[in-house]
Amino acid sequence: MPMRASPVQPTVDFDADGEQHGFLKLPHSHDTSAWGAEMIPVTVIRNGEGPTALLTGGNHGDEYEGPIALSKLAATLKAKDVQGRVIIVPFMNFPAFRAGSRTSPIDGGNLNRSFPGRPDGTVTEKIADYFQRYLLPLADYVLDLHAGGRTLDFVPFAAIHLLPDAGQQARCEAAMSAFGAPYSMRMLELDSVGLYDTAVEEAGKVFVSTELGGGGTATVQSVAVAERGVRGFLQHAGILRQDEAACQAPRGTTLLDMPDGTCFTTSEHDGLLELCKDLGETVEKGEVIARIHDASRTGVAPVEYRSRRGGMLAARHFPGLVRTGDTVAVVADVVERGMPVTV
Ligand SMILES: [Zn+2]
Repeated sequence: MPMRASPVQPTVDFDADGEQHGFLKLPHSHDTSAWGAEMIPVTVIRNGEGPTALLTGGNHGDEYEGPIALSKLAATLKAKDVQGRVIIVPFMNFPAFRAGSRTSPIDGGNLNRSFPGRPDGTVTEKIADYFQRYLLPLADYVLDLHAGGRTLDFVPFAAIHLLPDAGQQARCEAAMSAFGAPYSMRMLELDSVGLYDTAVEEAGKVFVSTELGGGGTATVQSVAVAERGVRGFLQHAGILRQDEAACQAPRGTTLLDMPDGTCFTTSEHDGLLELCKDLGETVEKGEVIARIHDASRTGVAPVEYRSRRGGMLAARHFPGLVRTGDTVAVVADVVERGMPVTV
């Protein structure tokens, strides 16, 4: 039986030239709006034939560099500045974004674990299905802007995954370099099932993701990385005209790698977290990377966590309290420092 059509109706015409600001309208009947809809903002900017870039933020609702940079881009980018098409969705999981939470308050859905989604599923699954079957086929280049959210913090990096197709991986690496974040990561996923990343990569697209900061907010620096990166990415895709990106000064990026699971330090205790390294600092193998203090009594020595590998602290648990099962730290290999950023 053929899969049913998505209930999502866009209020924009993806094939029309010019700048359009509208919504992906997803019917959602609930107590306070019987014939209501989730209205996910979308911008389409098109100027004739050319490649299409799909730019997203807010896949997780508590990550802010993407929503800020993409809102600004949607409000300022003009059709005359592009060749081809840019589709901008700054708040991909809009219900989660409105709630300031990682997952949807409607159904608890983590959009980035919900792909390929279902047209007859939960609200979150319907969003995933619409991206999977309607937006991804339109795109050649896909950029999904993440950060650590309320519970993690990262050194700012753009990321790609190791892919079975070497040609596709090389195209993704080139686009990651063009994004030009201070760090560029070959990222290992502990569980890639249901990721938007996996859906995009399996569709054969050029895909770059990011982790640009965290703690449930954005900084001057992390927003600047996002804005500069989006423009570099669009220039690399051949969509943004050269003069639009001409103001970018030469800069370098440090290539990082997460080769295996020993990069991760996972808490086996509840307690008060004392990180012994700051983000970006060098870590030796076997070095104490964190202490977890028993916050229920005094006079007890903290539990020490030692890094299982040497490298650089690339990510850390953000809140002061930690629970069993939380990722405390990620130590990545430094492959090469000061690689030139080329678009
Ligand atoms: Zn995220």
